[in-house]
Amino acid sequence: MGSAPGGSSEKIMPHDLPKAYDPTGLEDHWAEYWVSEKLFAQPMPTADDAPQGDPFTILLPPPNVTGRLHMGHMLNQAEMDILTRWRRMSGRRALWLPGTDHAGIATQMMVERQLASEGSSRQQLGREAFVERVWEWRRHYGGAILDQMKRLGASVDWQREYFTMDENLSVAVREAFVRLHEQGLIYRGAYIVNWCPRCQTAISDLEVIHQEQKGHLWEIRYPVLSEDGKDSGEFLTVATTRPETMLGDVAVAIHPEDERYLHLHGKKLRLPLVGREIPVILDEWVSRDFGTGAVKVTPAHDPNDFALGERHHLPTINIMDDKGHINADGGAYAGLDRYVARKKMVADLDAQGLLGEVKDYTNAVGHCDRCKTVVEPRLSTQWFVKIQPLADRAVEAVEKGYIRFTPEQYGKTYFEWMRNIHDWCISRQLWWGHRIPAWHCSDCHKITVARVDPTACAHCGSEKITQETDVLDTWFSSGLLPISVFGWPNVTAKNRGDFDTFYPSSLLVTGFDILFFWVARMIMLGCWFAKDVPEKDGSERSLARSVPFKEVYIHALVRDANREKMSKTKGNVVDPIEIVKQYGTDAVRFTLASMASPGTDIAFNVARTEGYRAFANKIWNAARFLFMNVDRAAEIGIAVDPESLGGMPSAGPDAPLEARWIVAELNATAAKVNQSLENYRYDDAANTIYQFFWGSFCDWYLEIVKLRLDFSTDEQVSESASQRASRLAGTKAALTTFVQVFEASLRLLSPFMPFITEEIWHALYDGNPPAKSIALTSYPTASGSALDQAALDGMALLQSLIVEVRAVRKEIGVEEKATTPIEVRIGIGMQALVKENIAMVERLAKVSEVRFVEQIAAGLAKHSTPFFDVAVIYERTIDVPAERVRLTKDIAKYEKGLAAAERQLGNAGFLAKAPAQVVEGLKKQQAETKLLLDKAQAALSALPSE
Ligand SMILES: [Zn+2]
Ligand SMILES: [Zn+2]
Repeated sequence: MGSAPGGSSEKIMPHDLPKAYDPTGLEDHWAEYWVSEKLFAQPMPTADDAPQGDPFTILLPPPNVTGRLHMGHMLNQAEMDILTRWRRMSGRRALWLPGTDHAGIATQMMVERQLASEGSSRQQLGREAFVERVWEWRRHYGGAILDQMKRLGASVDWQREYFTMDENLSVAVREAFVRLHEQGLIYRGAYIVNWCPRCQTAISDLEVIHQEQKGHLWEIRYPVLSEDGKDSGEFLTVATTRPETMLGDVAVAIHPEDERYLHLHGKKLRLPLVGREIPVILDEWVSRDFGTGAVKVTPAHDPNDFALGERHHLPTINIMDDKGHINADGGAYAGLDRYVARKKMVADLDAQGLLGEVKDYTNAVGHCDRCKTVVEPRLSTQWFVKIQPLADRAVEAVEKGYIRFTPEQYGKTYFEWMRNIHDWCISRQLWWGHRIPAWHCSDCHKITVARVDPTACAHCGSEKITQETDVLDTWFSSGLLPISVFGWPNVTAKNRGDFDTFYPSSLLVTGFDILFFWVARMIMLGCWFAKDVPEKDGSERSLARSVPFKEVYIHALVRDANREKMSKTKGNVVDPIEIVKQYGTDAVRFTLASMASPGTDIAFNVARTEGYRAFANKIWNAARFLFMNVDRAAEIGIAVDPESLGGMPSAGPDAPLEARWIVAELNATAAKVNQSLENYRYDDAANTIYQFFWGSFCDWYLEIVKLRLDFSTDEQVSESASQRASRLAGTKAALTTFVQVFEASLRLLSPFMPFITEEIWHALYDGNPPAKSIALTSYPTASGSALDQAALDGMALLQSLIVEVRAVRKEIGVEEKATTPIEVRIGIGMQALVKENIAMVERLAKVSEVRFVEQIAAGLAKHSTPFFDVAVIYERTIDVPAERVRLTKDIAKYEKGLAAAERQLGNAGFLAKAPAQVVEGLKKQQAETKLLLDKAQAALSALPSE
């Protein structure tokens, strides 16, 4: 570690910490400092930049630009920050890369709402002006969520902050689209999509939320036609939950072996309300048990019917427009809203005697995830990514272990989905997003897909071309992020430092809800496109090196204190910003960390945060105590050499027991914390540090070290020069260990509580720190040689002795301040240990004298352990007035209890009904209370009068 010039080892380290720990001001200060000093920036490595081991790269799942920080973000970011800070301090070149997502639907909806409140609409504005308006919104408010992140101290590289609509990322999106198109992996086709009539766009299966909803199952009688095309008088009854879709019916399907309908094979039906003749078709897919066993077939409005229609080469009739209104193909019902049409059609069917039974029916209805409108399956022309061979490659990458999931079960979920994956519909009918780079020719009707905006049709040369109006699914661009943020597709000889250094990234930390939306897409697109980026030496990139990340950690949910899912409707949402204001970021982070482990949801309880606020306070006070001692030492010329800080402290065999012990404990703690973080056991890591800092360091070590810190001056002590030298040497050694262990503990804690540790660490060096931040120092690691088992065992024995003495004192009511002699029966070897550390026992157990005995004297209050017996010798001296108050209170209590028991035992009704053992118990209790009452009364009258 570096040091300030001018013999800073002479410099003492006084320090000014305010008396009370107040996180607000200090957190604001350091949050700003970390950003303004660009402490966590990683400039692009140059070509001849020597490799610095294995870097640690992690991408922030980009929050929506419209987002506000919630508890899920806070957990996710705390976990990422802890790991990044830890890896950085452990010597890895750490890069945590932030950005925001343009969030097509969400952002467009929000600006549309704004426009609506102004009495305008996007249609009135027109596409260009609307998109400009969204950009304007983004410039004003788009940084809000990242500003929140800055305040929370996330150690990201702000120099590299991106927005998914940035120029370079847009180039990547366009290149990916064009390349997939060239490879025959993008096509346009008619397909049943989930259509949101409110958002007026197709949405993916993943964006549809299914909710149980009460509705009806309507039975409708379709007239069967005889050979001559006239009504035969027979009806085939179908059942449907969406009667309005019958306007688009093209057949009715029955099971070929359904005995009820064998005579209808080959027959035709007349579609009610429309009049169209439609065939009865046979298909084994039809379930004979559901409804009437006859299924109306509407290929343009139902995914199963669409498949059925394909099998039977049926036409498709789309009867609904973008807004969910019946279109011209709906005949008499054209122009009506889908639900208005439904009502009218049901009434008309009823009037014509074609309505059968109407049953109550509950089914899962798909709703738009964004606006909660009921989605309408609807046939439309969309752009698709042909998912094979992309999916196969993505499956292989995980099968071969190039990507590892934690918890492991998510690997299984991933496989299940990837092995049943359909082509990916990537077009959205929005204005905000990456517009599809395809141009339609109005002369030859062919499509030109191009990297550079074309001026003429590539097929016929016509200049009558217009760009596709659809934009790309937001996940198409975010799926490319792992490659695009490192320069793809422009990874050239001059420009490949980032890609060579940081790709594949090390880890992705994210929620299970975007496992498919995002994680799977990144794996598919990363594995597909990165393979075409040769390695630095020109060799082909392997699949193992094409993956976007090597590990995926799926974080759990943050629930409320009762383990309920947080929701706005329940009103149990905890706002992280509010909690941070109250308790400080460090305490909130520590709360989350102390409960975070793979696969376990977190029940967020403010009481716990309060506890960790107290923990921060404890550390603060320990620092103040340490600084006070450092300052007192300075007054008599003792200083701790700053050069001796920054590593792992050591204590030789001649050092006092507590010094050897605390160093051994620190080593054991560091070992456990490193191991726990390696396994994503944030909880174990945090709790281990907590135990060490609060228990070992503050409750024990700090109390013991006070005995060693002797700052007496010459006038106060008469001693020889050599005695004095030895005394001061002892003080200096103790102070040095104290400061060293404390400093190392700060580093150990820093990834979890970055703010308070930064503040104290700077104070410790009194403005002359060896680095710009504690985050840039090295993380404590255990050294094998530091496992001083003898010190650990010895200290354990002394602690046990002290704890037992404290317990006995409590039992026999020794006054808080009184010191007492103790009797100890203990083996000779251990006697020596106690004698060597007699001052420690005396101080911590409030002992005036330790008497080693063969046998504890009879009548003494004693505790026994396998190693020793200990007794406290105590004659109570009595505070008469206080004792009188106490006894009077006790007497009143006993009398009340006794009266209650007597009342109950005098109640004949109770005695008749109560079980024998209850009555017995009551009698016993009565006798005991009487005894206590007699004793208390005797004691009271024995008190000397005032
Ligand atoms: Zn919607
Ligand atoms: Zn053309």
